[in-house]
Amino acid sequence: KKIVIVGGVAGGASTAARLRRLDENAQIIMFEKGEYISFANCGLPYYIGGTINEREKLIVQTVEAMSSKFNLNIRNLSEVVKINKEEKKVVVKNHKSGETYEETYDTLVLSPGANPIKPPIPGIDECDNLFTLRNIPDTDKVKAYVDNKKPKHAVVIGGGFIGLEMAENLHELGIKVTLVEASDQVMAPLDIEMVSIVHDHLIDKDVELILKDGVNSFADKGGKVILSSGKEIVTDMIILSIGVKPETTIAKDANIKLNERGAIVVDEYMKTSDENIYALGDAVEIMDFVNKKPTMIPLAWPANRQGRIVANNICGKNEKYKGTLGSSVAKVFDYTVATTGNNEKILKRLGIDYEVIHIHPGSHAGYYPGAFPIAMKMTFDPKTGKIFGAQGVGMDGVEKRIDVMATAIKGGLTVFDLQDIEPCYAPPYNSAKDPVNMLGYYAE
Ligand code: FAD
Repeated sequence: KKIVIVGGVAGGASTAARLRRLDENAQIIMFEKGEYISFANCGLPYYIGGTINEREKLIVQTVEAMSSKFNLNIRNLSEVVKINKEEKKVVVKNHKSGETYEETYDTLVLSPGANPIKPPIPGIDECDNLFTLRNIPDTDKVKAYVDNKKPKHAVVIGGGFIGLEMAENLHELGIKVTLVEASDQVMAPLDIEMVSIVHDHLIDKDVELILKDGVNSFADKGGKVILSSGKEIVTDMIILSIGVKPETTIAKDANIKLNERGAIVVDEYMKTSDENIYALGDAVEIMDFVNKKPTMIPLAWPANRQGRIVANNICGKNEKYKGTLGSSVAKVFDYTVATTGNNEKILKRLGIDYEVIHIHPGSHAGYYPGAFPIAMKMTFDPKTGKIFGAQGVGMDGVEKRIDVMATAIKGGLTVFDLQDIEPCYAPPYNSAKDPVNMLGYYAE
């Protein structure tokens, strides 16, 4: 069996490692067009901010270590530029030597990820201080710019996870940040009344927050950002973090089925429209676990989980991917913001009947020092009690409650079961009635 994997980071490396565990004899070749495999994408903003202080810590596996540990043929700086699915071959460009060659496969796995969106905003190509963040070379560029140019002001465009993490990390370096977001809120997975806590906190932390205003153009090589409202911001650097788009050109050229946003369409076994090709991670369309509609959720948990499932299926296990909940968490200065499942915006858009509960319990017993309220919101079906989603914002213990809710949703528990969840309790950690129990009591 000869398996070729395109992409050597989250999804690709998980697939390769699992494949080797299942099959000692398979020939496994993993191509990565960049220099680094298996690096810590999620840690990049924290290296820029200095919380992670050694660059090596970002590199989870080297080509040499992973190749020998798992007996893999890993080729970095090697880009798959074409898929010939009829002949079951890929064309590879070696960026070290410049040479191009073919490699055959029995099964091909695509985990090429997603690229930061960089729209053709007037002036963007002339900016020499504008950065996007996806990989280690991007991170090196931002870090070198910050270290050498000592910027005093930055504009972060886009209030998603990466934008907020960058805003905080640049702030940590003493850089004044203006955050520009075209919609009326940052962090789309939160509903507006929940995210207003985050907005206030950003302002408290001296981030200039500009909502409902997009970028119209850049002037002075990025020294000036001009917004749709006409407002002009003079700045030293720009982070563009307005989302990602699947990196699927080679799949498209090979006539592998894509959705209208360019994501690879896969079945529940993660197989593409071609019998011999699987795909996973940020590049694919998957099913929303709650509403069962197709969606795209570029997060690390799905990429890792799907990698394991793809490997299992290549080895004949016929395992289904059950869908993505989109459980996510972010540190926003002193707050932790976490969500899982469907929020009110999604349910409204889909015309699903729902009810909402808001509570503000303490993170642990109020008489023990250091308890903070957690703002929690749950969406659910008033008829069946099915839990659609949960959101939490607070200083402590937020993600643990959202993790319990995510477990409840995946396990098929209803709001009526929440009273009976029995979490561990002692005053420094919890109250005898956990916030998740409280949601259950209110829902009754
Ligand atoms: P990737 O991990 O991006 O790997 C794809 C690889 O394929 C790339 O290295 C690319 O160079 C390579 N490739 C593409 N095309 C080719 C080709 N033709 N030939 C050879 N190689 C190719 N997720 C979370 O859940 N939590 C977080 O806190 C979080 N933080 C993040 C912070 C940042 C700054 C970034 C950028 C991402 C973050 N993510 C986070 C998202 C998470 O990293 C991704 O969801 C995950 O890495 C997706 O895995 P993947 O295998 O699909 O893609």
